[in-house]
Amino acid sequence: MSEAVDLLIRARWIVPVEPDGVVLEHHAIAVRAGRIAAVLPQAQADARFCAAATVDLPSHLLMPGMVNLHVHAAMSLMRGIADDLPLMRWLQEAIWPAEARHVDAAFVRDGTRLAAAEMLRGGITTCNDMYFHPDAAAEAFAEMGMRAMVGIVMLEFPTPFASDADDYLRKGLAARDRWQGHPLIDFSIAPHAPYTVSDASFGRALAIADELGLPIHIHVHETAQEISDALAAHGLRPLARLARLGMLGENLIGVHAVHVDDSDLELLVRHDCSVAHCPTSNMKLASGIAPVPRLLAAGIRVGLGTDGAASNNRLDLIQEMRHAALLAKVGSLDATALPAHTALRMATLDGARALGLGDRIGSIESGKFADLCAVDLGAPACQPCFDPVSHLVYVAGRENVSHVWVNGETRVDKGIPLLHINDSELLRLASVWQTRFGN
Ligand SMILES: [Zn+2]
Repeated sequence: MSEAVDLLIRARWIVPVEPDGVVLEHHAIAVRAGRIAAVLPQAQADARFCAAATVDLPSHLLMPGMVNLHVHAAMSLMRGIADDLPLMRWLQEAIWPAEARHVDAAFVRDGTRLAAAEMLRGGITTCNDMYFHPDAAAEAFAEMGMRAMVGIVMLEFPTPFASDADDYLRKGLAARDRWQGHPLIDFSIAPHAPYTVSDASFGRALAIADELGLPIHIHVHETAQEISDALAAHGLRPLARLARLGMLGENLIGVHAVHVDDSDLELLVRHDCSVAHCPTSNMKLASGIAPVPRLLAAGIRVGLGTDGAASNNRLDLIQEMRHAALLAKVGSLDATALPAHTALRMATLDGARALGLGDRIGSIESGKFADLCAVDLGAPACQPCFDPVSHLVYVAGRENVSHVWVNGETRVDKGIPLLHINDSELLRLASVWQTRFGN
């Protein structure tokens, strides 16, 4: 007697990511109640399951939905507003003044809608977000059907969103209370960076993270100037200061970690911290080359992030996989550094583990949520194909993403987004904000 399932997906290749390096050919995934019920050869699947719906992917790679480990989603509305500047000039002359004038809850809701649509269309099913008005961001992610870790952002200085560090925390925690129990929305504590948050505020952030069991999401060691400024102000490198404050732990996601010496590496290993590597943002802002092969060799979990659309300017994790692989090679002058399967693992399971979601998403295993992405490698530009993971990282682009599922629900079907807000409405929202920026 056949077992009933909601969905059966048959694919030319399935890359489960766990076990590492495995490529299954002519297999199928059965989905029931939003979760992966089984992964098995197609003939066995056909014999065992009676599916309400079936999707055939004869020239496709089926993989876990990607996890964008660092994004400022709402900054999609500032895409291209200021290019070709180093980090501090970019922040002080362009981004912070624009945010002070324009950012409110409506900006965050619309910008996050635009970003969620872009990410889902490109195979990203989960993101780790950090921005103002987390309540509006959560609303947009939930509406668009994207899994998100929404950051309770903290800064020392006032913005139209909050007056001081305590006010940021209070508002962020109130948002978390409102979204408790939502199937797609979780929250982290997100102190912006060591150079924008005081010791006292870090202490409060830590107490809350410990009490509520939240991840800590923070920019760290992004530029050489950040390190020299910290040595002048505190007599300590930023990671050493965070260690002294008790902030480092397995729940900490350090974003960038470009400038990492042996003492920093030792701290990251000792405290089992994760790193969000953002290769395109690091290249564009000329921050430097993160020593990712050294971090990986030391056993540190490294996921991939796009950073915001104002410093990238695409929310495209296939691009980040390619850039991570290429940058690791040129940075170490070692062509064997960061092979394609490692890049894919960083973009999926290692990002999920960094978020504390490794038991729920990030790989194709029975019992996990059916967050999935299919990439069509059937086009002439993707042929011949000897290794689909090599093609995913070195050949394909997000335009090759054909299907996306979150919790087993279809978000993209044969390249067509099936989202709560359609493309023409998204274009209208973007145009409204562009006009406001223009004025
Ligand atoms: Zn960032």
